[in-house]
Amino acid sequence: MSEYDLLVREIHDCTRCTLSAKRTQAVPGEGSLDADVVFIGEGPGFYEDRDGRPFVGPAGKLLDELLASIGLGRGDVYITNMIKCRAPNNRDPLPGEISACKPFLDRQIDMIRPKVIVTLGRYSFQRFFPGETLSKSRGTPRKLNGYTAYPIYHPAAALHNPRLRPALEQDFGKLQKLLADPGTAPPEEPEEQEDSEQLSFF
Ligand code: SF4
Repeated sequence: MSEYDLLVREIHDCTRCTLSAKRTQAVPGEGSLDADVVFIGEGPGFYEDRDGRPFVGPAGKLLDELLASIGLGRGDVYITNMIKCRAPNNRDPLPGEISACKPFLDRQIDMIRPKVIVTLGRYSFQRFFPGETLSKSRGTPRKLNGYTAYPIYHPAAALHNPRLRPALEQDFGKLQKLLADPGTAPPEEPEEQEDSEQLSFF
């Protein structure tokens, strides 16, 4: 069994936090382990908990459309979430739940070593860039611990508020260029490194 398969099994068996009690199943993530880009959402919702796959509801359909618009499919990227089990009523994950689940995300990033890490939505963004505003930071690549982080809106936000959709489409267009030339990201920002617990991708 591969290192990745072992990780997936660990996630499925995990009881590190209380979300394990009410999940139908854990949702580790899916896609290519050779992917140049990893997408990180917040956590599984109703459909993901039911199917065991990330982004399979309406937001997932929009994500698929956006990927197709830049010539990518799910097999070309890796998609996962900050936490791997659904929170009751889709509430925001608690800090303790994110801390408990963080080692899994870190190991996924460490295995894949993508060129670009896309944070989907405010919650995922603020875990890595606390105190900053997504509406001001979206669509601008940043260097973080040797990776290029690229914050964009969550597809679900664009479904709730269609006025965000043009920005999301525009940011996917920029992602295509960024993947073609990751060197276009700005240099590392040393002042962002102080809180390593908050900021580290691994
Ligand atoms: S959310 Fe993460 S830490 Fe909590 S039970 Fe699920 S896999 Fe384990």
